[in-house]
Amino acid sequence: MSAPPALAAFAALPPLDFGGRLGRLRHQLESEGLGAFLVTNLVNVRYLTGFIGSAGMLLVEPDNAVLVTDGRYGFQANQQLGRSGVTARVEAVAAAEQDELLGDLTRGLGEVGLEAGHITWARQRALKRTWGRAKALVPTTGVVERLRALKDRGEVARVAAAAAVADEALKLAQAMLEGRTTESEVAAAIEAEMRRIGAEGPAFDTIVASGPNAALPHHRPGERRIRRGELVVLDFGARVDGYRSDMTRTVRAGEGTKVPAALERIARAVSASQDAGLSAVRDGVPGSEVDRACREVIEAAGFGEYFVHGTGHGVGLDIHEAPSLARASRDILSSGQVVTVEPGIYLPGAGGARTEDTVLVTEAGCEVLTLAPKALHAGSGGGGGARGGRRAAGAAGAARAAGKRTAGQTGKRASKTGGARWQRSLPTT
Ligand code: ZN
Ligand code: ZN
Repeated sequence: MSAPPALAAFAALPPLDFGGRLGRLRHQLESEGLGAFLVTNLVNVRYLTGFIGSAGMLLVEPDNAVLVTDGRYGFQANQQLGRSGVTARVEAVAAAEQDELLGDLTRGLGEVGLEAGHITWARQRALKRTWGRAKALVPTTGVVERLRALKDRGEVARVAAAAAVADEALKLAQAMLEGRTTESEVAAAIEAEMRRIGAEGPAFDTIVASGPNAALPHHRPGERRIRRGELVVLDFGARVDGYRSDMTRTVRAGEGTKVPAALERIARAVSASQDAGLSAVRDGVPGSEVDRACREVIEAAGFGEYFVHGTGHGVGLDIHEAPSLARASRDILSSGQVVTVEPGIYLPGAGGARTEDTVLVTEAGCEVLTLAPKALHAGSGGGGGARGGRRAAGAAGAARAAGKRTAGQTGKRASKTGGARWQRSLPTT
């Protein structure tokens, strides 16, 4: 197998900015009147300290932070905290002694905030028993998650690198769809290719949904053999240094084949809807507004009832995180957030289409991080975004960018992959 392509996105990943994170959390705790905060969500522990282990809790006090873990992770925790430059003490003690230790550490600190969504009922009751009634345990939600929604440069660079890996892996999937293959073969190949290129692994279980299976938004790839002329929904992402990307492309299996007119119509509606969504993303815009922009286009095309999920979500250390882009969302988009825009239409028994990009929210609009072409989507042209620079989209920017995508990118990318070709546009009818 040939050497992995050198991805510019990996060249110089800027360091993660751990410096201000604990300070921002303490500021928030102060405004909520909490004396201390116990972080039990391991992803939040990683975000705040750089510690990557399967067991650990972080106690954050006004001028102190203690990472409580067990003997397996003592050395590793010290090493990782040292690397991230976070000031916190490591206590590696047996699990059975940890609650008592936490009780001692929080003595006299008043109310202690717990992450209500990340602590079991049994655990909360045990803490209460060990710590006694004097200390009030206060349930909180989304405290660290709200901080995580805003990405620093290093975080954005990692998501962008993960997106670049997925862009590359799509080429292999496209080539496989020229021959006879099954959903699970394509999914396995995509995941192997992403690792080969340099990812830690997939961002989540890769979705390959062909023919009628494409009507299921979260279909699990199976042994179904993909037929020429079918629409195939490929939804996948890579993980780079913990950060994830998320992209969906709906492609046609087999060059030169024809897709049934009904499916061609839904692919076109999804494409137009996604363009409208990308154009709506901007600093200060409610997440619900982006959802509305996408939904209106699909409703106008007569498929409103078949768009059965929200429009998007934040992406970072978790594949689904704040903010939410959905009808009922109360989140307001901010520059520095990384979100997806992913409308879809699903016709039970017949098939479906979805297009998804991961984008960085900016003052003026957004920068698209997933640059693989959306060539099947009739009307928006073929070709790919330039890997050298992210594609800017914003109010009225998406149409321009779509035009740019069309210009001469197809040949350039095809030549690098030695035969793996991007799909051309469907004929417009
Ligand atoms: Zn996805
Ligand atoms: Zn998604």
